[in-house]
Amino acid sequence: MVARDWPMSGVACPTNMKYPPCIGSRRGAAALGSISLTTRSAGAFRRFLGADMKLHCLQSGFIKSWRHLLVIGAAEGERVIVPIPFYLIEHPQGRVLFDTGQRVPARPPDQNGNYVVMMTPEERAVEQLRRAGFMPESVTHIILSHTHGDHVEGLPDLPDVRCYLQRKEAEMPAGQALIKANSRKQWVFPDGELDLFGDGMIRLLPTYGHSPGHQSLLLSFADGRKILLTADAAYTETALTQHPRNEEEQQRPYWQTIAHLRQLQAEGVVIITGHDPATWDDWQRQFP
Ligand SMILES: [Zn+2]
Repeated sequence: MVARDWPMSGVACPTNMKYPPCIGSRRGAAALGSISLTTRSAGAFRRFLGADMKLHCLQSGFIKSWRHLLVIGAAEGERVIVPIPFYLIEHPQGRVLFDTGQRVPARPPDQNGNYVVMMTPEERAVEQLRRAGFMPESVTHIILSHTHGDHVEGLPDLPDVRCYLQRKEAEMPAGQALIKANSRKQWVFPDGELDLFGDGMIRLLPTYGHSPGHQSLLLSFADGRKILLTADAAYTETALTQHPRNEEEQQRPYWQTIAHLRQLQAEGVVIITGHDPATWDDWQRQFP
């Protein structure tokens, strides 16, 4: 892995970005709501049972891009390299994957270098799972934050289990293409929030804006900790500190979601953002 070469504290996602828009620096990432956290009784029950889950922060290579494409208001001309995270959650009822990383590109990078994949075949999610000690066949559920390549391109390598994509995202052309290309998967299309196992431990949260049907994942551990995996609802912690410039912007889903994430953060939820090179190493150390 290359040393951090981007002295930023965070990057944010321009609301008007088109695919391929998800980028950010080499090695480095970070931490969220107004959803109803009605899991107190379920949490007490889990503690009684001693059941808990485990989070693993995994990575599928890097992407090189330009900082101004990732950080709202950043000056042009600065190169950035960001990690491509994906996550495995061990739950008493199954092994849940959140996103699936990217694939080694078949073609040379685009001329303007807006989206340059930096990875080896060994950095595919399926190989990274094996390296972390998990048979890919043991994955029981796959949750996709959205349909951009750095989050879904690893899907064909993975078992044909239940795959969760928000209906709004599934109805987009990219969603239709993804479903068609992975037709053997058991697709589930939630409309909004979903409690995966009905015990409050893993919740799919609609975080629309970065893409029409983007979703994040809220984990509630038996010891009371809550961790939100934002994916690209917020590229970095800096995104959580930014505000819309006017009332019109404020009404856009991206900014509504940022406000929601900030509320969750204020309620004590720890937030791991989508591509923050400044904090990713620390998250990987905490949740190897
Ligand atoms: Zn992304």
